[in-house]
Amino acid sequence: GIDNLANFEKLAVLGHGNGGTVYKVCHRPTNVIYALKVLRFMEEPEMVQQRAFSEVEILRRVDSGFVVMCHGVFENGFSGADGIEDICFLLEYMEGGSLHDLLRKHPMLSENAISGIARSVLEGLHYLHSMQIVHSDIKPSNLLINRKGEVKIADFGVSRCIAGVDKEQCPSYMGTCAYMSPERIDPDRWDGVHSDGFAGDVWSLGVVVMECFVGHFPLIKPEEKPDWINLMCAICFEEKREMPETASAEIQSFVMRCLQRDWKIRGTVEELLVHPFVTKFEESAAEHLFYYASVM
Ligand code: ADP
Ligand code: MG
Repeated sequence: GIDNLANFEKLAVLGHGNGGTVYKVCHRPTNVIYALKVLRFMEEPEMVQQRAFSEVEILRRVDSGFVVMCHGVFENGFSGADGIEDICFLLEYMEGGSLHDLLRKHPMLSENAISGIARSVLEGLHYLHSMQIVHSDIKPSNLLINRKGEVKIADFGVSRCIAGVDKEQCPSYMGTCAYMSPERIDPDRWDGVHSDGFAGDVWSLGVVVMECFVGHFPLIKPEEKPDWINLMCAICFEEKREMPETASAEIQSFVMRCLQRDWKIRGTVEELLVHPFVTKFEESAAEHLFYYASVM
């Protein structure tokens, strides 16, 4: 079975991130390829451990075609000391890599393909939200593509399960804030009503969709410095986020619903799943994504 890490051979490094490395590995007995995400705790603060344990909890519970599948969790796969010093997740291998990698090669995707990405992410969010899980880190490097052209949500490092949890107790954020919603940056601005976090995932999807269309991070101009002040102003105060004139009415309206600054009137996952931008390209989206996956 896959219960012993000794049966895996490391083939390559697929990615680095917050406190972890992801390897391409081969399960020798079956010759099946997986991705192995290794989080090491050596000299890492408590925070990293907390995140790892919540990622374990979430990965053990989720089972959806729109979320990267976890086939097993190993503690101390590489350390074997008294305390837990690393945690490894055995994940399904997504041959196409991340949307971040794809956008580096093809900075502007077809609307067909973007529509397919939006639909997959919405299906994934619909599933996660029904399990009371807020992803909290939807961005191109956390959306993975396989060789069939399927897009799945990955990386539950900062996600949280809101059931029974004190809503004030948000995990402090360690990655980029570029895809963060206005209500996460400034929670007290909205008539004192705090969001449960679901709407924040929709905002992030809107930024991703816009980025796929315009070919760069869309909230600040390419010539502006992407520092904290410029970002915060763009997210919290800038009034209009224009899509280029070449954009269809459908994608314009989709992005507007996602980037509605007040989370209380922002589009919901349910609404956006039947939005014309998602339904219009239903037939052709898979073919376009398959094309992009095959030229990666
Ligand atoms: P982090 O918490 O460090 O951001 P991620 O889970 O987002 O870790 O993984 C980091 C990178 O590794 C991803 O952006 C992607 O490029 C690559 N990666 C992660 N999981 C897989 C996978 N299952 N298949 C292929 N590549 C992966
Ligand atoms: Mg990540």
